[in-house]
Amino acid sequence: MGRWYQFMNKSLSEIWTEVDGCKRCQLCETRTTIVFGVGNPNAEVMFIGEAPGKQEDLGAEPFIGAAGKYLNSLLNLAGLKREEIYIANILKCRPPQNRNPLPEEIEVCTTFLRDQVRAINPDILVTLGNFATRFILKTDRGITGLRGQVHLTGRFSVVPIFHPAAAIYDPSKRPIMEQDFLLLGRLLAKRQEEKSRRLTGESVRVAGDPMHDGNGECDQRRTGCQ
Ligand code: SF4
Repeated sequence: MGRWYQFMNKSLSEIWTEVDGCKRCQLCETRTTIVFGVGNPNAEVMFIGEAPGKQEDLGAEPFIGAAGKYLNSLLNLAGLKREEIYIANILKCRPPQNRNPLPEEIEVCTTFLRDQVRAINPDILVTLGNFATRFILKTDRGITGLRGQVHLTGRFSVVPIFHPAAAIYDPSKRPIMEQDFLLLGRLLAKRQEEKSRRLTGESVRVAGDPMHDGNGECDQRRTGCQ
């Protein structure tokens, strides 16, 4: 899909107009604020989390609590700055006591997320945790078996990573988180190199391709990889 189709999509401000005051699910009764999303509206990389926590519910912005601070430090490993990316959640309102999103809540609220993805039109989706990963990859598989690889779905490269909150509660996950952000950095570098080669008319395989293993063979668990 080319960039032309953005002209047929809603803008972020139009989507916000629809979300503002939303009462489509029961979470409207317990939320303090709606947490729409924040960041670069033309981001190459869009991060998708699960749902607002306590701090986010109060501050109306995703990833501003402890998990957000940890995420900011991990972004450095991928060579990214927070202002370069866009971040949104599967749910725009906080579930009580941070319980898991319910299927009916996900179904009704992800209409807004789909519109946000169309409006931003990123190349890479980073899915944080089980709920975002399962929604984007349309799978029942868990994050543990999907992380550490680049998946293709539609025109998007998808990088599933543990939710930062999981690594705060379980520090043994931190080295894995760091590996996955380094993988994201390699993917970005590869894409940048490919763009440069296209400009000069070259077509050369990039060494250390994160889409393939050390033998140059595709891991069959990735979807759509050729
Ligand atoms: S979680 Fe989503 S669908 Fe439910 S009230 Fe909030 S914005 Fe509306």
